[in-house]
Amino acid sequence: MSRLETLNARIRTAAALAGRSADEIILLAVSKKQPLERIHALIAAGQRRFGENYVDEALAKMEALQVPSLEWHFIGPIQSNKTRQLAEHFDWVQSVDRLKLVRRLNDQRPEGAEPLNVLIQVNADAEPQKAGCDPDDIEALAEAIGESPKLRLRGLMAIPAPRTDPAGQAEVFARLQALYRDLAGRHPGVDTLSAGMSGDLEAAIANGSTMVRVGTDLFGPRPD
Ligand SMILES: *Cc1c(COP(=O)(O)O)cnc(C)c1O
Repeated sequence: MSRLETLNARIRTAAALAGRSADEIILLAVSKKQPLERIHALIAAGQRRFGENYVDEALAKMEALQVPSLEWHFIGPIQSNKTRQLAEHFDWVQSVDRLKLVRRLNDQRPEGAEPLNVLIQVNADAEPQKAGCDPDDIEALAEAIGESPKLRLRGLMAIPAPRTDPAGQAEVFARLQALYRDLAGRHPGVDTLSAGMSGDLEAAIANGSTMVRVGTDLFGPRPD
């Protein structure tokens, strides 16, 4: 089996164990630092959604690949001076964690483009150094995104600190699911919980994740 087939089988098994349809779970291929040949190979195998962390690297890849049907997600920390490139070139931005970014992305999304899909990144571990907003700030961000005509609020994204124990994984993803349900209850159109990576996607899927983000397990280790 290819890496992609193995991963899709893992997702199907996790979904079945959770009593969910595998169709509810999207695989985002995290292509940061991965060479173009590997991305081409994954496109040939049918993968369409790619996640990138570095703006300049991502734009260079879009330019080189020239495959129109791909969907590009920005998942890295956002510097305010990069929002214009995000607004002009990406389909989704998953790492929105402060009001200033909402304003800039809405102002800078080109007229006539589809609304930019936005996830609010939440700091699930309340770790002071980490990206993501405090859970208490989700609603203010959601309202600002909802009032932005060129943005479309789709849900939450989180990158919990890696945990190896199943109980610890279940605890953090259950907390995220509660935040997600709360948000979805107040904002129609919210349909995406981006949570779970190669080490913990089973626990994430058991707790309502609709999008898992995997890099190394799909592409192989990132070359330096
Ligand atoms: C890099 C990254 C991933 C994937 O990590 P791998 O270890 O390559 O699978 C997922 N989500 C985010 C936000 C990342 O930055």
